[in-house]
Amino acid sequence: MAYKRSVYMEAKNRLSARRRQAEQDQMTRHSLTVAKCPEILTIESEMASYGASVIKAVGMGGDAKEYVKSLSIKSIAAQDKRKALLKQNGYPEDYLDVRYSCPVCKDTGFHDEHYCQCHLQLIKEIAREEINRQAPLDKCSFDSFKLRYYPDIVDKALGVNQKEHMQSVFELCRSYADNFTLKNKSIFMTGLTGLGKTHLSLAIAGRVIDKGYNVHYESAQNLMDKLEKEHFSRSTSDSSFKDEILECDLLIIDDLGCEFQTQFTKAEIYNIINTRHLRSLPTIINSNLSVKELEDVYHPRVASRIMGNYLLMLFCGKDNRQN
Ligand SMILES: [Zn+2]
Repeated sequence: MAYKRSVYMEAKNRLSARRRQAEQDQMTRHSLTVAKCPEILTIESEMASYGASVIKAVGMGGDAKEYVKSLSIKSIAAQDKRKALLKQNGYPEDYLDVRYSCPVCKDTGFHDEHYCQCHLQLIKEIAREEINRQAPLDKCSFDSFKLRYYPDIVDKALGVNQKEHMQSVFELCRSYADNFTLKNKSIFMTGLTGLGKTHLSLAIAGRVIDKGYNVHYESAQNLMDKLEKEHFSRSTSDSSFKDEILECDLLIIDDLGCEFQTQFTKAEIYNIINTRHLRSLPTIINSNLSVKELEDVYHPRVASRIMGNYLLMLFCGKDNRQN
């Protein structure tokens, strides 16, 4: 579950900012408290001198143990004196402690040499923000999907009740997301515009991110623009956008077929689908194109890979623009 480098870097920056803010706030509280009650400084210099003596005592050998013990007793007494003084002046006892957002890791992001829960949570939030910048991830959840928009009538082409069919598509998507692992199959969602393909793709993305997986969501046009830009630039960066696309836990391509098509984009689409298939990594593609139309627009190998390996989901109903 390796996330994008940009996500890790952003998490690192935000943790540093939290730490700095907590320390600055403590310094402000300290200055104001000292202005009101200067005795605090005397007690604190006592506390500091005990601390310095403990450091010096290390390596003394012989009586060091007893000496250190006596210093800690004095240090605790000084701390108690400071607490009492704060209380007398109307402050809570811990008023001068640094108040980290996460007391477990003190906003370092690590605890017992592992990622702290706060760090993992932050990574998920940043991953969500990255998708939210280009698609309404927060608005498109399973809870906000409205099945009532689908007509309770038989779809002539599919020969099934539209509402019942979409209910089963919805449940399949929810179960796919709830039980997501890297062994999940890939999905091809097909149907006309406004039938909820993007909504359900985003709902899956949101839930899979919450489970701690690295999800990459791109519209086909954005995806191609970025790949093209990278391909024709002279970037020597170690980690490329293309690597991220080929290696992420779940790739979602929105609106395949709406991108401006060239030989380059057609080759890239096949490369992405094929490489992720060979690596056994799940991909979700949604498109207004049918599988037959895919064959006409792209190379027949694209349609063949999708037909042979993807779970086909047919969307029906009337254009409800849920998304
Ligand atoms: Zn933490």
